[in-house]
Amino acid sequence: MPFSSLGFSPTLLPSFLRAVAEKGYSTPTAIQSEAIPAILQGRDVVASAQTGSGKTAAFALPMLQQVAETADQTPRRVHGLVLVPTRELAAQVGESIVSLARYLPRRVKVAVVFGGVSINPQMMNLRSGADIVVATPGRLIDLIDHNALTLASVSTLVLDEADRLLDMGFGDELGRILDMLPRQRQNLFFSATFPPAIETLAEAMLNQPLRIKVQAGPQAEPEIVQRAIEVDAPRRTQLLRHLVQTEKWQRVLVFVATKHAAEIVADKLRKADIEAEPFHGELSQGKRNQVLQDFKLKILQVVVATDVAARGIDIAQLPVVVNYDLPRSAIDYTHRIGRTGRAGESGMAISFVSAVTEAHWQLIEKRQHLNVPREQIPGFEPLHAAKPGNMESSDARVPEPDANGGIKGKRPSKKDKLREAAARVQSGQGQGQ
Ligand code: AMP
Repeated sequence: MPFSSLGFSPTLLPSFLRAVAEKGYSTPTAIQSEAIPAILQGRDVVASAQTGSGKTAAFALPMLQQVAETADQTPRRVHGLVLVPTRELAAQVGESIVSLARYLPRRVKVAVVFGGVSINPQMMNLRSGADIVVATPGRLIDLIDHNALTLASVSTLVLDEADRLLDMGFGDELGRILDMLPRQRQNLFFSATFPPAIETLAEAMLNQPLRIKVQAGPQAEPEIVQRAIEVDAPRRTQLLRHLVQTEKWQRVLVFVATKHAAEIVADKLRKADIEAEPFHGELSQGKRNQVLQDFKLKILQVVVATDVAARGIDIAQLPVVVNYDLPRSAIDYTHRIGRTGRAGESGMAISFVSAVTEAHWQLIEKRQHLNVPREQIPGFEPLHAAKPGNMESSDARVPEPDANGGIKGKRPSKKDKLREAAARVQSGQGQGQ
């Protein structure tokens, strides 16, 4: 079905068609075809969509139509509220909405707010109001507490990556925000997974929603080739360097377990003349933006990231993701590999597996219903065989995750515990996704 048949108002349709054509979208993705007509009719929607399925435009286009059809007011009142778990996702969703709104007859103001940066510019920006606010929950509450905005006029609420919002411990903030919203509103709920906590939230929030589960299709389920390479932990950086060079990867996102490892691995790659930068939560927002920008512009060949980057980064044509350290949970695995193969493009996800992490990898495979053949790269064949309880010595400066994906000798943080709880809920459901 073409974009022109989804039910957009005839006056706004030409503006939307021009914007999507400019972004290179020729036909709607599966989620867009299913969700847009229902959202335009005012229905609540709960969608379980693959990462990279095109869900942003699925909620943004109808939301823009609603805002564009509302009389201009000064100051502007917030009609659409999009809650997201991370700063990167906030920035990305905000950018998408602005680009889709580009040709509308009336200017739509989109405010993007997130923590980790000064609140003052965000407060200044909100003085003249905003039509749509894209926010992480904590900063949104701070801004409301500072009287920088009110949620009294919100007519559409979007929870994007709802599972991650709960997973990251935003449950309390979410509760407070929901209490401040008008009861009469449209709710759009997007989540990659549906553990019981998410089902409960969806049931409490939604009014006879249309349930959408995007079936596998060429666009909804990108082809991601998954590979597992056996290598001894201390040789992973050398192997990575070898693969980047021999397989001529132009752009690689490498996942590691700690900020420290991100710094060290990026440093070692730079010493081998590979343009690499670390990306983790301790970098300033400015630096993080710069790294993403340089990665997008192909100035950087490799970004070595912690799981902060597993969600929210959308770089078209990111061909390769490498799990240098395995993710802690099967859910994180899905999110990491979802960074490649976006919007129907093919991609490759490579996991380094050592004797120590073999058991953990098997667990991920089981949860994901995968059976990835083990590979060895000539010159990097492991000397240590996988044995239960084998405590292989790891790279002196790069700690390797233990069999649970945690770092040896490090006590789990509150976030670790939340992640583990989420993984348990997930596995209890027996859902591989
Ligand atoms: P999302 O799931 O919203 O993060 O979108 C994933 C990627 O798909 C982004 O790079 C979008 O720009 C792209 N995309 C969204 N809709 C379409 C479409 N109809 N055709 C092609 N690409 C799309």
